[in-house]
Amino acid sequence: MGALQTEIERRGERIFDLVDQHPESLFSKAGFYQRMMALSMRDEHFKVQLFRFVDVLASLHRGTDIVQHLDEYFAGMRNGYAPLIRTGVRAAKIVPWVSGQLLRWNVSGMARQFIAGRNPKDVMKMLRKRRSQGIGFTVDLLGEAVVSEQEANEYASRCLELLEHLGRETRGWTDPLGKNTELFPVVNLSVKISALYSQMNPADPADAIIHLAPKLRPILRRARDLGAFVNFDMESYAHKNATLELFRTLFTETEFRDWPHVGIVIQAYLRDAENDLLDLLDWGRARRTRFAVRLVKGAYWDFEKIKSRQNGWACPVFLQKPESDLNFELLTRILLENESTVTAAFGSHNVRSIAHAQALADQLGIDRSRFEFQLLYGMAGPVKRALVEMGYRVREYCPVGELLPGMSYLVRRLLENTSNEGFLRAKFSENVSEDELLRNPADLISQGPNGARHVEVSSDGASLDTPAGDTYENAPLVNFVYEQNQDRMREALAHVRTQLGQKYPLVINGERVWTEKTIASINPSSPEDVVGHVAEAGIPEAERGVKAARDAFEKWSRTSFETRCRLLERAADIMHRRRFELSALEVFEVGKAWAEADGDIREAMDFCRFYAHEMRLIGRPRLTQHVLGEESYHHYWPRGVALIIAPWNFPMAILCGMTTAALVTGNTVIMKPAEQSAVIGAMLMEIFEEAGVPRGVLNYLPGKGSVMGAHLVDHKDVDLIAFTGSREVGLRIWESAGKTREGQRELKRVICEMGGKNAVIIDADADLDEAIVDTIYSAFGYQGQKCSACSRLIILEEIYPRAIERLLNAAASLRVGNPEEPGIMVGPVIDGTAFKRILEYIDIGKNESRLAFQRADVPQKGFFIPPTIFTNVSPKTRIACEEIFGPVLSVMKARDLDEAFEIANSTEFALTAGFFSRSPANIERAKAEIVAGNVYVNRSCTGAVVGRHPFGGFKMSGGGTKAGGADYLLQFVVPRVVTENITRHGFAPETTPLYRDEFLGPR
Ligand SMILES: Cc1cc2nc3c(=O)[nH]c(=O)nc-3n(C[C@H](O)[C@H](O)[C@H](O)COP(=O)(O)OP(=O)(O)OC[C@H]3O[C@@H](n4cnc5c(N)ncnc54)[C@H](O)[C@@H]3O)c2cc1C
Repeated sequence: MGALQTEIERRGERIFDLVDQHPESLFSKAGFYQRMMALSMRDEHFKVQLFRFVDVLASLHRGTDIVQHLDEYFAGMRNGYAPLIRTGVRAAKIVPWVSGQLLRWNVSGMARQFIAGRNPKDVMKMLRKRRSQGIGFTVDLLGEAVVSEQEANEYASRCLELLEHLGRETRGWTDPLGKNTELFPVVNLSVKISALYSQMNPADPADAIIHLAPKLRPILRRARDLGAFVNFDMESYAHKNATLELFRTLFTETEFRDWPHVGIVIQAYLRDAENDLLDLLDWGRARRTRFAVRLVKGAYWDFEKIKSRQNGWACPVFLQKPESDLNFELLTRILLENESTVTAAFGSHNVRSIAHAQALADQLGIDRSRFEFQLLYGMAGPVKRALVEMGYRVREYCPVGELLPGMSYLVRRLLENTSNEGFLRAKFSENVSEDELLRNPADLISQGPNGARHVEVSSDGASLDTPAGDTYENAPLVNFVYEQNQDRMREALAHVRTQLGQKYPLVINGERVWTEKTIASINPSSPEDVVGHVAEAGIPEAERGVKAARDAFEKWSRTSFETRCRLLERAADIMHRRRFELSALEVFEVGKAWAEADGDIREAMDFCRFYAHEMRLIGRPRLTQHVLGEESYHHYWPRGVALIIAPWNFPMAILCGMTTAALVTGNTVIMKPAEQSAVIGAMLMEIFEEAGVPRGVLNYLPGKGSVMGAHLVDHKDVDLIAFTGSREVGLRIWESAGKTREGQRELKRVICEMGGKNAVIIDADADLDEAIVDTIYSAFGYQGQKCSACSRLIILEEIYPRAIERLLNAAASLRVGNPEEPGIMVGPVIDGTAFKRILEYIDIGKNESRLAFQRADVPQKGFFIPPTIFTNVSPKTRIACEEIFGPVLSVMKARDLDEAFEIANSTEFALTAGFFSRSPANIERAKAEIVAGNVYVNRSCTGAVVGRHPFGGFKMSGGGTKAGGADYLLQFVVPRVVTENITRHGFAPETTPLYRDEFLGPR
């Protein structure tokens, strides 16, 4: 064993001895809290329910509501304590007012264990007490998630007030160690930058800095005047780079360059923590003034894991706990070895991590007064006491705030205290031996597939982990947190800009066809810029297209499905290669923001791979039943010539989705993109040509819907029409396709996806932090031009005033502008016609209801419509019933949930809907009662992912199809069954294969 390990063990044992002199269980508060935590650790389901209940409790005011939630969360428990819990719930129901308040009081008690005071005045009692114990403080203001600039500005003012108060109240306080005091001001404020700017976007750290710096400067100036210290806390990975950059930018400014009392957090659970720390040290040396780093493991481990899994990103955090512990030690060494540049604060409750820092500091000859240990308020009290006794500097992290904003903080702490892998639980609750607790983390890392040395991470942040088995995996989204991806997008935009204005021919039977007439596709942000001139197909070209497709059908329909699947997969690979270029083109041609454009390209790739995957599942004839003496195989044939009519709002994804579904099932295709996005359509054609689509199998025919589109719809040789677009056109197609023309072979199949008038309901107990952000995104993301967009918001009366206030402020804070800039949320609407139509609706709205909000500062050039919100909207008015397809939101108030559902279901559409609630019973009701094809609970109602959220509506929203779902391909085929009597003279084979080779269609 090395000398360092021996010393760590010696130190650790000493800390444990001191801890044991003042024994305290992990949950020192006896009674309710202790019992709840003990139960939580024994029963995972109880823990989940308890934390959810705690999360909602602060927003409940009436005793009956509290007891109702208690019942919903706990009455169905199935553990050893179930009878006890049920008795408790029954008793609570008898006197709900009393039991409700009692519960609130108890949970408030839990929160008070971790929150040092309600407000600056209140917290002083605690700080004085700690001072008498030789413990310093850093104070953190708890706040609701900031959804608007108004809330961000309030947070900034509260920080200033807090500073003033602390400065005044601690006058005359001295450093507990009385040594190297110049490094450790008494007043120490921790700030969270996400609470100071509501529009943080990982793609645009520069914008965050532009907005955050002016808000922070007054706080920093005042802190400096007061001789205080300011620390930038670290939050989720999405904000990490902006936080680091902001820190470096501000403290390089002349005004703050020589100020040493500034610090930032490094999270050891991050794989890139070491690089970040080394960069900071380089910066610090160049700056020539000390600064501080608080080293922690990190508080968002579960969140990061979930987020990266959902988006297909490489997980930024280590996956094994000892890896984080080991990295903490590595970073401890870097900090201590650079002690002349940086002042270290070790933020941990783990005695091994603490003992390691102590032992290493000794080995390096660093005096214990030159660094500090920081621990959270309400946690590991005996460890703090032990450290003080050993003569170390200890600072407590003291959150200040009310119960409601404190809830997410409380839940994080509860999770930490009950975590299976956490040190505190191991030591104080499970009595794991000291030897075990002091082991070197390097010895505990297992070298499995999740081990540090085996995780595959691509440099652009996409996950390279391959899923086990034959499951369909979505393409990752581009993670714009990475600078490299931001650069690639900027380069792509610059490159595509040089390509604008080119001419694109039709493609018929593999030949380029030029026409006299062209369609000019313009940039909606800057209408004088033509993105491209696309040849316009008229009726003669439509005829040629149909003939080419008809001729090609014979061979294509007899091509094996595996060959067709591979074509789709090659197309997806090409899209992947050209991903940034295609996204950039969408920014110019249809005004999509970066992430929205990327999402569209991702979806197109997903469609290719998903439909290939699905085709392989249905491609081979499948035995219907095992019957002796007979074989019946069920299989599919293509329908014939498919006409694909796509919209401009998901210009690549929807066009590609419908086209690939037709191709992979063996149909040949006439692809008609929307006129507004015809250049993207040309790109899709180009991609398929490169992928090797045979002549005539895919024909690219942009043109006027009312002329050649209508002609094709009525054409006797078109067997299938897949349409996505407006209700008006959809119904016309539906009707027209119902007529049988002379010479027509097939009954035309129409796959029709139309609009929506989608409602989001905010229940009385909803988490407004989430509901507002997600609703704003659903309503105004891509300017409200997604068919899934929220255009009606129904808020329960009880929560209406607060929700509406936050909603309007959030809308006022949105970034509106040219989407070429990263981080823009609201860009232009698609064209002049849409612009005019939406403005007309806004005028109608002004007559029908109350215009509660309209942005004033939108760009004058381009088709920018100001985000607009109407309130007091009556459900029968035009703006509440008709699809507007723009950034216009109608808000309605509902007395109760019955009324909310009634309003939500009262339109002729049924596409998407959203429901925000923390009542399990109401959530179940919403799942059952909301009439929509896609119902989303506690998340935005847009952003369906292929395979995960098969998408499509019914009623006047469509024919009940589900794009990206398992049954979608079935609409593009006709089913056949072939039965053979295999008995000869009373003899038949015993077994029949489950699958057989394809019956390749008719010649
Ligand atoms: C004063 C103070 C300030 C803090 N400020 C911040 C801050 O600004 N930002 C922030 O993010 N955190 C911050 N934290 C850290 C965080 O909130 C936790 O308290 C801390 O991570 C717990 O670590 P520990 O060493 O005390 O306990 P331990 O029990 O040794 O470690 C628990 C930690 O290990 C990590 N972990 C758990 N499971 C795994 C796994 N399977 N694989 C890999 N790693 C895992 C997690 O980070 C978890 O929190 C702060 C902590 C303190 C004490």
